[in-house]
Amino acid sequence: MAEFTMELNDEQKEVRDWLHGFAADVIRPAASEWDEREETPWPVIQEAAKVGIYSLDFYAQQYFDPTGLGIPMAMEELFWGDAGIALSIVGTGLAAVGVLANGTEEQIGTWIPQMYGDAGDVKVAAFCSSEPDAGSDVASMRTRAEYDEAKDEWVINGTKTWATNGGIANVHVVVAVVDPELGSKGHASFIVPAGTPGLAQGQKFKKHGIRASHTAEVVLDNVRVPGSCLLGGKEKLDERLARAREKAKQGGERVKNAAMATFEASRPAVGAMAVGTARAAYEVALDYAKTREQFGRPIIDNQGVAFQLADMRTSIDAARLLVWRASWMAVNGRPFTAAEGSMSKLFASETAKKVTGQAIQILGGNGYTREYPVERMHRDAAIYTIFEGTSEIQRLVIARTLAGTPIR
Ligand SMILES: Cc1cc2nc3c(=O)[nH]c(=O)nc-3n(C[C@H](O)[C@H](O)[C@H](O)COP(=O)(O)OP(=O)(O)OC[C@H]3O[C@@H](n4cnc5c(N)ncnc54)[C@H](O)[C@@H]3O)c2cc1C
Repeated sequence: MAEFTMELNDEQKEVRDWLHGFAADVIRPAASEWDEREETPWPVIQEAAKVGIYSLDFYAQQYFDPTGLGIPMAMEELFWGDAGIALSIVGTGLAAVGVLANGTEEQIGTWIPQMYGDAGDVKVAAFCSSEPDAGSDVASMRTRAEYDEAKDEWVINGTKTWATNGGIANVHVVVAVVDPELGSKGHASFIVPAGTPGLAQGQKFKKHGIRASHTAEVVLDNVRVPGSCLLGGKEKLDERLARAREKAKQGGERVKNAAMATFEASRPAVGAMAVGTARAAYEVALDYAKTREQFGRPIIDNQGVAFQLADMRTSIDAARLLVWRASWMAVNGRPFTAAEGSMSKLFASETAKKVTGQAIQILGGNGYTREYPVERMHRDAAIYTIFEGTSEIQRLVIARTLAGTPIR
């Protein structure tokens, strides 16, 4: 029986310090420039590839850390550096996880290396699920994949939106409807390589925050991919659909629970990103409050300022603990009986929005300018309450889990 500890082990501390060094020396100094440019920071991704941070190996090592803390620790440090650049570095991981979770060994071996490229020629990947009329309501997705048996090809038609790296990716993982009768259980994921006829980038969004991260529409117009691009393969899909039809007749509980467990396991990673941004803004505010003098003393000597900092730090630490708990539960296969993954994402993302706003207040006029990083951090923080399920959807999931009512 392992002893209970709240401390990272030596190996984790070493990785954390290494990531922190990269975030402080490479990411943070580049943050303002790429935020203004609103372009993918290819040189920074390349730098991350050179040192081994932008690679499947690194991701897998953290993912399989038996304590569950590898991924949250990595996310917190990278996003402490800068959220937009960090998302450009970890965005490929979201698509890679889609392939790792559903792909065959052959698909994993073929496609994941093409998602990352190599240090001399880095590539990125995109995960395309959201659509203009299917955001929170994933089940209303319309993008359709139909099987052309004669050619053993899938024909995909539809428009995806909000895809991180959409259109600039070397590999797109596209979720599409294969059986409209089954709602979200009738979806399947496909690999669509760059250059496939009919695949095009739609509009690129000009965003409020995380502006270094590319977000765009992806249009699929009679896109044809070989049968081998269906993640998991046709036989497994047919079995899964048959099971889902059977379960649907019986109420569908087991299928629902499996899908929910996947979300609960991935949401703490977004919570950890939010903790990174919140901590970054808090640190700037703390330093500023200690050095800025008004009325002949540092502003932190005013209880009104010091109490804000106390609340900020307390919320950040509480958020991290919720994130770590959910990550530990996921890796140890503990059931999420109170939607603890959603809880961690909800609390950490709302904390990041609040704390970055408080940081602006503590910096006064300076906080409101682009001379200081907290206004950027505040713009960046707003994304955490939106993507990977909005705060309202997290509350819905938690409430329905507590009430014991089905989660669609
Ligand atoms: C920068 C960025 C990057 C993204 N990256 C990706 C990506 O890589 N891949 C991808 O597939 N998607 C991505 N997304 C999409 C993201 O996951 C969606 O924006 C999100 O799920 C919300 O969907 P929506 O924008 O359509 O909002 P809606 O679903 O239209 O929601 C609008 C509002 O209504 C509320 N609402 C909706 N339903 C309910 C309800 N039942 N109860 C209470 N309130 C409700 C929501 O909480 C929200 O406040 C990204 C989004 C952004 C902004």
